[in-house]
Parts: sequence; C-alpha cells; structure tokens
Amino acid sequence: MEKADITIIGAGVVGLSIAAELARPDLNVFILEKNTSHGGGISSRNSEVIHAGIYYPEGSLKAGLCVEGRPLLYNLAAGQGIPHKKTGKLIVATRSEEIEELEKLFAQGRKNGVTSLEMIGKDPIARMEPNIQAEAALYSPETGIISAHDLMNVYLARAQAGKAHLVCRTEVLNIEREQNGWRILAQNDRGEDFIFVSSVVINACGLSSDTLANRTGGNYHLYYCKGDYCGISGVKPGLVERLIYPAPLKNHVGLGVHLTMDLNGRLKLGPDATYIDRVEDYSVPSEKAALFYEHARKYLPFLKPENVHPDMAGIRPKLQGPNDAFADFVIREDAPGFINLVGIESPGLTASPAIARFVKKMLFK
Ligand SMILES: Cc1cc2nc3c(=O)[nH]c(=O)nc-3n(C[C@H](O)[C@H](O)[C@H](O)COP(=O)(O)OP(=O)(O)OC[C@H]3O[C@@H](n4cnc5c(N)ncnc54)[C@H](O)[C@@H]3O)c2cc1C
Repeated sequence: MEKADITIIGAGVVGLSIAAELARPDLNVFILEKNTSHGGGISSRNSEVIHAGIYYPEGSLKAGLCVEGRPLLYNLAAGQGIPHKKTGKLIVATRSEEIEELEKLFAQGRKNGVTSLEMIGKDPIARMEPNIQAEAALYSPETGIISAHDLMNVYLARAQAGKAHLVCRTEVLNIEREQNGWRILAQNDRGEDFIFVSSVVINACGLSSDTLANRTGGNYHLYYCKGDYCGISGVKPGLVERLIYPAPLKNHVGLGVHLTMDLNGRLKLGPDATYIDRVEDYSVPSEKAALFYEHARKYLPFLKPENVHPDMAGIRPKLQGPNDAFADFVIREDAPGFINLVGIESPGLTASPAIARFVKKMLFK
C-alpha cells in the first residue's frame, strides 16, 4: 500500500459516510475493514429508523447531529433512490400518569429544534391508528425508516467515485505516532502483516473504537448494551402504519420496547437494553418473546402471545455505564491528525451525513 493521506478504520455507516464526504481524486483515502465486506457491524443490526431528534439533551452532539442529519438523509435517499419511508411515529401514553412524560419529551424535542411535534388526544390517535390503545400521544411526523444497507452502498459508491479505496479482510492492530503522520500496522485474514504511514487517521471502529483510541493515548471505556428484537407474525397486514413507542421509563438507557417495521411492512418489537460483557453474542433468549408481549400488549391490544417470536439482536457501544448519566457521542481530534469517533450508538445512522460534515470541518478548519 502507498502512503495514505487519510485512513478511515471501519467500514460501517459512520466510516463510509465520512469517506463519501472526504474522498476526492487528489487525496489518497483508504478505508480499512476487518470483515469480508462493508457494513457487517452495528450498522447491520439496528432498527433502521430515521430519528427526529427528540430524546437527547439540548446542545448535545446526539441532538444536533440527528436534527441536522435527518433532512440530509431524506434528501440523499430521495436523490439516490435509497428505499425509505417517512412513516411518522407515535410515542404513546397508555395511562394518564404517563402523559407528563410525553409533555417533557415534547418540550425536549422543541428545544432540540424538532418543530413538527404535536401532542394529540384519543380521537386523532383513533383516526391515525385505529388498532392501537393510547390515552394520548406525541406525534412525530418526521420520523421514518430507511434501508441501512442501501444507504451504505450509496456512501461507498460516492467514496469510490472520489477515488477512495475500500480494503476488506484487513484488521488494524496498532498505530504509532511518526514524524509525518501515523504508522499503521494491519494484518489481513491470511495472517500477513503490513505497515504504512497515513497523515490522518479516523477511528470509526464501532464496538472496538475505544480499544483503538486507547492505543494512541485515549482513555475511553465502552460498555456493550445489547438490544434484542422479536418478530411479529400471524397478524393481518397493515394493522399499524406508524412506529409506536411507549412513553419513556424513568432513567431509561433504551427507548422502551417499541414497535417498528421494515420497508416490507414486517412488524418487529424492540430493542430492549441489557448491559452485557464485552462479547459479541447476538443470540436472543426465548423468554424475550413473553416479556416483549407483556410490554407491547398495553398499546397493541390485537397482539396474542403466539404472534411474538425471538428474532435478531444488536449491540450498542455505550460510553454511558449502568446507572451513569447521559453520555454524548465523542468525535474528537485526540492527537494531531487522529480523530476518534467513540460511543456512536443511536442515532448514529440518522446522524451519519452530519457526522461526516462535522469531521470534514475538524480536518479542514
Ligand atoms: C440495537 C440498535 C438499534 C439502533 N437503531 C438505530 C436507529 O433506528 N436509528 C439510528 O439512527 N441509529 C440506530 N442505531 C445506531 C446505529 O446503528 C449506529 O450508530 C451505527 O450503525 C454505528 O456505525 P459505525 O460505523 O460507527 O459502527 P459499525 O457499523 O460497527 O462499523 C464499524 C466497523 O469497524 C470495523 N472494525 C472494528 N475494528 C476494526 C479494526 N481494528 N480494523 C479494521 N476494521 C475494524 C468493524 O468490523 C465494523 O464493520 C442502533 C444501534 C443499535 C445497536
């Protein structure tokens, strides 16, 4: 490999969006990915929801980059033919005591610049979604769904059009400071080592981004927080058209067991949130089906226990440990020419085009 100007480590939605933003023919940009193909990490195991930007504290990167990223993503999807749908979303109170939580979210969303939100009562809910049960709801018309894989393919095609190179089956093992940049030690899946120098390094390694950041003087610790999903089958198609989320629980780390759908209209419940050891275990315990049913039947009265079955799982890279306060995305130049992206959990997919712009501004300030 030649000397690189920019090396992006990790070909998930974040690394690829940055590559698409930075690539141009006069720069030697490499994307290194340890898997056999791009997009096999966190980016392939999520809800594929285009979030509005409601839940995060005002002024946080999560709020700002989500609100900025959402319209960029809709425009990109419309322009490039990426399958997507602006479904809208209802966050529902099934008991009157929960309405206060919705009002807090409404205020939070407005502070974050999500201007389209509306508090609605039983009648409009019944007109929109006659098959759900709710006393009140916070309606977010801007929320939607997108095909994450098609999005990543578009980012990759844009990066390659700018002459960036994707190198798969290649794991970065170590990085050291050099006079003119960073000395990168990588190994391919045949066990062959190679070393090269890059002026700029961007660490977009998802679940292992802390490990790589700490090799060059960082001090990060990621907790793995698993989200299990259950599929719904055996119900009439088209019973629900919008994403339905419960009112948030106090001190929540996830968004509560909610109902989403894919672009084929298949319904699924989840993800929940469970801190686990640092092992990539994607098995879904069978007892989750009964547990999810108990949560979801409060707002989906048509559901029967036999409709719910264990499906897939994803793992969040969280800087926020159990019982910790909110932790924001870290996007930081921790050493000259070395940018770390750590803790890029939800809404990382939605924020991806804005994250890419943010990194570009850091580099070309
Ligand atoms: C359960 C769940 C649900 C979610 N739902 C949503 C949602 O609905 N909407 C939303 O906006 N966001 C959502 N997210 C968040 C979103 O999926 C992530 O923010 C995003 O996918 C992170 O992308 P990434 O590129 O940082 O990580 P990844 O996709 O994991 O990419 C990192 C890549 O780096 C590679 N890598 C790691 N170490 C090395 C190394 N040393 N050398 C070479 N390659 C390496 C990995 O193989 C991987 O391919 C969800 C996340 C989870 C877990």
